Amino acid sequence: MRSKSAPTHSADTRPGGESARSGAANRLRVLEYLRTQRVSSCPRLARQTGLSRTTVGAILDELLRLGIAEQTGLADSSGGRRAVLLRYKPDAAYAVGASLAPGQWRTVLTDLDARVLNVASTRVLDDSPAACVAALGESLVAVAASVDRGRLLSVIGIGTPGVVDTLNGVVKSAVDVGWNDVPLARMVQDRLGLRAVVANRSRVAALAELSDGAGREVQDMIYVSISTSISAGIVYRRQLYLGANSAAGELGHMTVLPDGPLCPCGNRGCLEQLAAGPAIAQLARARLKQGGDSPLASVAGAHPEQLTAEDIFRVAAQGDALAIGVVQTVAGYLGIAVANLVNLFNPELIVLGGPVGRAAPNLLAPLTEEVRRRAMGYPFSAVRIVTSQMGPYAPAIGAAALVLQQSSQIILAGPTARLGASPRGDTARAPAGAYDRD
Ligand SMILES: [Zn+2]
Repeated sequence: MRSKSAPTHSADTRPGGESARSGAANRLRVLEYLRTQRVSSCPRLARQTGLSRTTVGAILDELLRLGIAEQTGLADSSGGRRAVLLRYKPDAAYAVGASLAPGQWRTVLTDLDARVLNVASTRVLDDSPAACVAALGESLVAVAASVDRGRLLSVIGIGTPGVVDTLNGVVKSAVDVGWNDVPLARMVQDRLGLRAVVANRSRVAALAELSDGAGREVQDMIYVSISTSISAGIVYRRQLYLGANSAAGELGHMTVLPDGPLCPCGNRGCLEQLAAGPAIAQLARARLKQGGDSPLASVAGAHPEQLTAEDIFRVAAQGDALAIGVVQTVAGYLGIAVANLVNLFNPELIVLGGPVGRAAPNLLAPLTEEVRRRAMGYPFSAVRIVTSQMGPYAPAIGAAALVLQQSSQIILAGPTARLGASPRGDTARAPAGAYDRD
């Protein structure tokens, strides 16, 4: 009784005859079935994968040795002998995700089910790549202090500002920290002995929204991060869409005002020059200077340059006309960009996140109205636009999620993923053939 998706006979493990590749594929297949089902048995996994019980039994031995599975009793009898049940252990290994902002790392520790077990915030004394990597090492020690370091996955997820070549782990350009062509993954490997997967922090925050936030039930979503810049994480069928060289989602550089202000990217009228945090504060300052009467004047006092977008949203929520006007102007620019996203991608959900997006619930109504006016009715009818409920650790959680997407491969990759099993692995080992029973 084989499942329809049973592999061909040649993919099976035969003593002395298996290729290394099909052996690895078989191990991954068995582990992924066990991970999805949580509890299973050798006969059941053999039926589902189409592999022989001997092969599956040997793989289960290995999973027990690695500590990723444990025995948890016997299955109900179906007439013959009762099969040994095995349980997937989400606490067998831990993932670390980290996100960099100017002057600070935020780091999270999760189990294999993406449950956040600990968080840490570590100051970075200067924004040079070397200082940042050194501080990441400190942050890693802090966040993993309460667990066996030997159980950390051998890959760390990192979110950084800027445009990132994710394939090669190189930060191509990050204005926030003044980086150009920084080979961050290589530096982390050299200094901390960990492989690193590096991506833009706003894009990976979309993964956090999928696992823990507004996107838990959706397939297609776009997360729009508004902070000192604007960036989007495009999620297609619950996977992050990275594009040809991992630059997809540079929403902040969509032109929304053809002859608008010059952007450091070289273009004019980019969205982030009109609607990111600094632009919102700048617009409010300009309107105050024109003699607008607003409580913002007293908030700003002698230092209008210290006004923040959050101040403006707060005062707008109190009913101030000048601040409300600023919010409406910003919602208009954002609405153009979001309407384009709705028409292009037809998402189920758009989430406004990042520190400015989260602080701006009063942006939602005018923005949605602008999108309704501009987007085509049919795709608009399928979309909800909401504010993120995730906190400031969202990019770090998303960076961990990037690692967890390949946790099974990392665990099976061998000795670099030391999972804290007993040194020879024999304490958890069952007698040969112990699972091969009905
Ligand atoms: Zn630009």
